[in-house]
Amino acid sequence: MSECIFCKIGKGQIPSKKVYEDDKVIAFHDINPEAPVHVLVIPKEHIESVNMIDENNSKIIAHIFVAINKIVKELNIQESGYRVVTNCGQDGGQTVGHIHFHVLGGRNLQWPPG
Ligand code: 5GP
Ligand code: ZN
Repeated sequence: MSECIFCKIGKGQIPSKKVYEDDKVIAFHDINPEAPVHVLVIPKEHIESVNMIDENNSKIIAHIFVAINKIVKELNIQESGYRVVTNCGQDGGQTVGHIHFHVLGGRNLQWPPG
């Protein structure tokens, strides 16, 4: 999947405004933010969407949420609150075929989404 843009961001081949990185995960500011804080958290490993999560790769999801906990503390939204969203497929509004978790905060978010 050499053409996947999020794989390329994970490898540092496309620049991003990084907020967190470890050996398995990278987090960076969304290029088109929908809230004062809008970060994307992705596994470096290519997984297309929630549809591709199984017993063999599911540990990365727990690891991503541990990373999110660190990121929201760092970005000062842990106390005020935030939303973690992963869009899946066409009706879910997924536009990039590499699983990613949106972390949105810094304003009062409305519910339900449109
Ligand atoms: P989706 O619509 O798939 O849930 O979310 C994809 C997100 O990736 C969008 O919010 C979009 O703004 C963001 N995005 C797409 N391409 C890039 C990029 O090259 N760099 C960054 N930082 N964000 C991107
Ligand atoms: Zn990818």
